[in-house]
Amino acid sequence: MKEIVIISGKGGTGKTSVTAAFAALCNHAMLADCDVDAADLHLLLDPEIQQSHPFISGHIAKIDGQRCINCGKCFSLCRFDAINPPQTNDKYTVTPSSCEGCGVCVHFCPEQAIEFPERRCGEWYHSETRFGPMIHARLDIGAENSGKLVSLVRQQAHKLAEDKQCQLILVDGPPGIGCPVIAATTGADAVFVITEPTYSGKHDLLRVLELTKHFSIPAYVCINKWDINPSMAQEIQISAAKNGATLIGTIPYDSKITSAQIAAKTIIEYDDSISALAIKEIWHNFAKALNIEQNQGN
Ligand code: SF4
Ligand code: SF4
Repeated sequence: MKEIVIISGKGGTGKTSVTAAFAALCNHAMLADCDVDAADLHLLLDPEIQQSHPFISGHIAKIDGQRCINCGKCFSLCRFDAINPPQTNDKYTVTPSSCEGCGVCVHFCPEQAIEFPERRCGEWYHSETRFGPMIHARLDIGAENSGKLVSLVRQQAHKLAEDKQCQLILVDGPPGIGCPVIAATTGADAVFVITEPTYSGKHDLLRVLELTKHFSIPAYVCINKWDINPSMAQEIQISAAKNGATLIGTIPYDSKITSAQIAAKTIIEYDDSISALAIKEIWHNFAKALNIEQNQGN
């Protein structure tokens, strides 16, 4: 089984459109949306949820008003200003969004009046799409720990891929170079990095390539909308090679990609446009480079 992760140095480079197009081309890969902070692969793949599960991460303090004697110890100890003093005839309370779950108040409360249940931070789903099974997730508003949720999505995708005997896991990774990207890429067979021919595109690409080099993950680079700045596209190609990455192809600017998004389709399904042709060729080259069995229909 092979796992490839599609990432970009920053958001808005066409990562999800290309991931969805690859899903259409490789047909019945295991799909995983690890862009949990701004998941949008579902908008193009319209998954039908088969199972949903809570995502639990850490704990949260909760004061039992019956047992609390208003001594104020928790209020003075909490470093995160998560505990509120009583209003008239009231007890101390916790602001859930401020509680970091450190457990100090729980430990020192003289009346054992503070409960410490697990914290629900979102949900993850096992779904079916027209291109194969998919694991995806949603973080609750304001919830943190997206790196942990990314790891969970990948872990569940591996489990389901084994059950379904999928030979390929296709992961839509998070943007940037932070903890969620590390959680999404470590141990993968290859990363496919999408960039665009701008100064910030080049800068972000080089940061991503430092990361892939550090973790010894083979990196393949694709320049989206290369024709909006051909000289910068050439600079990026040279920089990618200098940093040990392979330029696997370029995609020209194509307004049909936006039309396909509006129609909730992949560009492969929507139109045999210039970008669809470029993506087909890129997928062909990429699959060949990684020894991935290609779908006979495409
Ligand atoms: S430490 Fe315990 S008893 Fe004291 S105010 Fe806090 S919850 Fe109430
Ligand atoms: S668990 Fe930690 S952060 Fe949460 S209320 Fe208690 S002391 Fe504050």
